[in-house]
Amino acid sequence: MWNPDASPDRSFSPLPLGSVRPRGWLLRQLRIQANGQTGLLERHWPDLGPNSAWLGGDGEGWERGPYYVDGLVPLAVLLQDGELLSRAERWIDWTLKSQSADGRFGPDKLDDWWPMAIMAKALTQWAEATGDPRVEPFLSRFFELLEREAPSRPFHAWAIARWADMALSIQWLLRRTGDEGLRRALAETHRQGLSWTQWFQWFPATAKPAKETFRFSHFTHVVNNAMGIKAPAVEWEITGWEFARAATWQALEMLDRYHGQATGLFTGDEHLAGLQPTQGTELCAVVEYMFSLEKLIATFGDPLFGDRLESLAYNALPATFDPWMRAHQYDQQANQVLCDIHPRAWVNNEPDSNLFGLEPNFGCCTANYHQGWPKFVASLWMRSDDDGLALVAHGPSAVETTVRGRAVRLEAETEYPFRDSVTLRYAGASQHRFPLWIRIPAWADGPTVDGVPAEPGSFHLLDREWRSGDSVEVRLPMRTRVERRPSGGVSVLRGPLVFSLRIGERWNVVRGQEPLPDYEVLPTTPWNYALRTDGERIDATIEERDLVAPFFSPENAPVVARVQAARVPGWEVVDGSAGPVPTGCFELGSSETVELVPYGCAKLRVTEFPSYG
Ligand SMILES: [Zn+2]
Repeated sequence: MWNPDASPDRSFSPLPLGSVRPRGWLLRQLRIQANGQTGLLERHWPDLGPNSAWLGGDGEGWERGPYYVDGLVPLAVLLQDGELLSRAERWIDWTLKSQSADGRFGPDKLDDWWPMAIMAKALTQWAEATGDPRVEPFLSRFFELLEREAPSRPFHAWAIARWADMALSIQWLLRRTGDEGLRRALAETHRQGLSWTQWFQWFPATAKPAKETFRFSHFTHVVNNAMGIKAPAVEWEITGWEFARAATWQALEMLDRYHGQATGLFTGDEHLAGLQPTQGTELCAVVEYMFSLEKLIATFGDPLFGDRLESLAYNALPATFDPWMRAHQYDQQANQVLCDIHPRAWVNNEPDSNLFGLEPNFGCCTANYHQGWPKFVASLWMRSDDDGLALVAHGPSAVETTVRGRAVRLEAETEYPFRDSVTLRYAGASQHRFPLWIRIPAWADGPTVDGVPAEPGSFHLLDREWRSGDSVEVRLPMRTRVERRPSGGVSVLRGPLVFSLRIGERWNVVRGQEPLPDYEVLPTTPWNYALRTDGERIDATIEERDLVAPFFSPENAPVVARVQAARVPGWEVVDGSAGPVPTGCFELGSSETVELVPYGCAKLRVTEFPSYG
């Protein structure tokens, strides 16, 4: 599947923040985020409160402020929300004013390049959206400092592992200013960093480590891997090394093969944790993997990266929040039948890691998850290298930009991924000819663009003259399919959505305070079902329902699949999680019809099932 030679010779570039806007259900989803934990944290979480050292106080002064701003800025811009924009401006203003003559910035006590790398990313977005003239000279001074001082005051710990994120901002400034001197800072950043290219080429992490022999390594850390996936691409851009380019596809292949999950995620709790569907994946890894894929699809134009991006955005991301986004998990599990305080078979996470709440296990995700939805929406459309546009991921959205010197607006009207059609409506300069590349997912079953057959797993070129009011119909028919998992179980997918058993949920507050307490979630209905399948096929009755917010809740599931199933009496909870998926011969109860709902809707769920014929 992951083959660099099959990748098209094409690249895209991100549009400036603000060019792509959410519409329809995605607009509502971003509003849910803004009204949820994201909007409440400054008042209810001291680490992002007025005492943050990133606002001049003496509180948290490391990565949490920058993480939050890196997501707050695009959320505020995409929603055009004045209140959120003025909040973002407060953090940005303090940061810009904190810079000393030598280029240093941030809290006085800060002596670590890593939080600065995050804040630099937030500043690039701010400059794109607002045109703030302070950002370019600020970053120039900072990168001169890096070039000058990093050789004697080197990166350490996280900054070494996450060097590619620093490089992205240097590349951004280089594109904007054309200052070739920045290549020295880029080379120094590359020199300071871990070689993710070599890691993914060798990839010794082929199983979950035994507790007794586990030793911390930046190379096995789940978030570092999610971020490191883009590092070979950045290395290739800096050096031109062909083996670095090829390591990109190798990264996905290795992580899928040894740690992959049905959603396209890989496990890590907190280190790479193997193939069992009861291992956890940290929320930071979900949003960072998405950000890496947004970079990869731009750099290499491989439509498969778009397929994977949608799979994470529409399954793994919403699954790990309560429906109104007031609580999040640290670790999510594909087979997650019980969320409570209990020691689980994590590599080294704490017993509260799968609670839904304010900061279960550790507060990094509380600060970092905000970038997930808004950066995804901002990346749905990109500029193509033939001076046209590309629709790299599907979802209700609109793009407004200039193409070949003339203003264009395209809107994607759709309820994707819950429906299979997208109507593109054009407004803007008339009799305007430019290429539009439309991603056709690999799973599409007989896709068409304006009635013309399109190739699954490709970018379909629409090279035509546009007139205001024109529309184009994109059809991406979704067939319900069964995927055999390494556990021996099966998963059910339809289009970009993974389906899970709907389990009755009881939410109990276990600690903390309103409005952001921590919840355990207990099952109120049986979960130990096997599915009746016929090889790669399953007999499913699909019901499409009206989209009602909150979209990612078991009650409001916008699409439901009814399938035949039977209880497996011997399949029980072991150490707080569903036991291993039964395979071979197992006892079965009588046949009944069960409901599967999108993985993102099911906060308790079974996703890898035993099967019978
Ligand atoms: Zn985290």
